[in-house]
Amino acid sequence: MFVSDNLTVNEKGNLAIAGQDTVELAKKYGTPLYVMDEQLVRKHCRSFKNSIDKFYGGNGLVCYASKAFCCKEMCRIVTSEKCGLDVVSAGELYTAIKAGADCENICFHGNNKTDEELRFAVENNVGRIIVDNISELSRLNAIAEANGVTARIMFRIKPGIDAHTHNFVKTGQIDSKFGFALETGEAFEAVKIALSHKNIMLRGLHCHIGSQIFDIAPFEAAAEVMLKFIAKIKNELGFEVKELNLGGGFGIKYLNEHDPVPYETYMEKVSVKVHQSCKELGITLPFILIEPGRSIAGPAGITLYTVGARKEIPNIRTYVSIDGGMGDNPRYALYKSEYEAIVANKASQERDEKVTIAGKCCESGDLIGEGMKLQHAEAGDIIAVCATGAYNYSMSSNYNRIPKPAVVFVNEGKSSVAVKRETYEDIVRNDI
Ligand SMILES: *Cc1c(COP(=O)(O)O)cnc(C)c1O
Repeated sequence: MFVSDNLTVNEKGNLAIAGQDTVELAKKYGTPLYVMDEQLVRKHCRSFKNSIDKFYGGNGLVCYASKAFCCKEMCRIVTSEKCGLDVVSAGELYTAIKAGADCENICFHGNNKTDEELRFAVENNVGRIIVDNISELSRLNAIAEANGVTARIMFRIKPGIDAHTHNFVKTGQIDSKFGFALETGEAFEAVKIALSHKNIMLRGLHCHIGSQIFDIAPFEAAAEVMLKFIAKIKNELGFEVKELNLGGGFGIKYLNEHDPVPYETYMEKVSVKVHQSCKELGITLPFILIEPGRSIAGPAGITLYTVGARKEIPNIRTYVSIDGGMGDNPRYALYKSEYEAIVANKASQERDEKVTIAGKCCESGDLIGEGMKLQHAEAGDIIAVCATGAYNYSMSSNYNRIPKPAVVFVNEGKSSVAVKRETYEDIVRNDI
C-alpha cells in the first residue's frame, strides 16, 4: 500500500513508521521533522554486506555513501554494521571521525579536493583516497612525503557507461568533471605516474556510473570495462591492481510504481560477471567495494509537515502549503524528483485528490510535487512525504533564514533526536 514496508496504518487510522505513530512524533518533536527508521537502515546495510559474503566470499567492503545523509548518529549506525564510509569533503570526513568511524574503511572522494582536505585525510590515515585528476595526484604525493607517509589511493575512472537514464548508454562520456578517461589513455598515464611516485600506493580503481539505477546490466558492463583495464595494466606495466570499487547508484522506490531489484541481486549478478571476466583475462579476483548511499538511507526516512494554507484555484490546481519546502527538500525544485505523500492523520482514507504541495519559501518553484495523490488536506493536518531519507537533510539549506528541522531516529518502540532542530540563534550565530 505504501512505498516502504515500514509504513503502516495504526488503530487510530494514523500513519506509523516502524510501528510509531507519526502524528504523535509530530506532536512531540514539532514539524517539519525528518524521521529515520534505524532498523531499516541496518537492514539495508546487512543486505549489501550479506550479498558480498554470500556471493563473493566476503572479499569486499560496503562503504555507505554518506553524502546521502550524514550526521554522527548515521555514521555510528553504519559503522556498527561493519560498513565503511564514503565521504566527499573534509566536513563529511570530520563527521565520520567524530562518530568514531575507522579511517581505514573510509573512501575519500571529490573532483576538487583542496590541499587542506588532502592533508586532513593524510593526517588521519584514510584508507583510500580516490584520486580524481593528475594535479591532485602530485599534490597528494607531496603532502604524503611531507608527512613521511604513503598515501593509499584509488583512481576514479570514467568507464564510458552512462546509466543516469533508464536505458544505460555506452558512450565515450568523456564530458564529465569526475575522473580519468579510459579511451584517451589519460587513465593509463595516471597509473604510470602513480607507480613512479614514492609516497603513493595504488590500491585500486573506482567508478560510479550514476544514481537511481534500476538495471543490473550497466553495473555488469562497468565491472567488465574496469577489469579489462586492470588486465591491461597487468600486461603492460606488470602491476596487478588489487581492488575494484564499483560505486553506488542502486535505485529505490520513490513511487508506488517503482520496482527496484532486491539489493542482494546486484552483487549476485555482478559477482558472476567478475568471476567470469577475471578468468578470461587471467587476473586475480579483486577485493570489491560498493558505495550505496540512497538505497541505505532513502527508504528509511520520511518527512513530517503541518499543513497551513489551502488554495483552490478553479480549473487550475489546488495548492496545499506546508511548513517546510525546498529548504529541507530541494529535490523537486532541482530535478523534478517525485515522491508519494500521505496525510498522516487520515492515512486510512482514500487519497482521492490531486494537489500541488507547496513549501513556505519565497519562490514559486518551491514545491514538493505537483499532481500528487493525497487525502483531503486542511490546515493542521500532518503530511508525511515518503522515502526522504537520502539527499534531503544533506541537501537542506537555510534559504529564507528558515531553521533546519530536527532529525529523529525511531528504533524498537523508542524515538530519539539525532540532530537538534535549529534555533533562530543558530541562524545568526556566525553573523558579526
Ligand atoms: C553519490 C555517490 C555514491 C552514492 O550514490 P547513490 O546513488 O546514493 O547510491 C557513491 N559513490 C560515489 C563516488 C558517489 O559520488
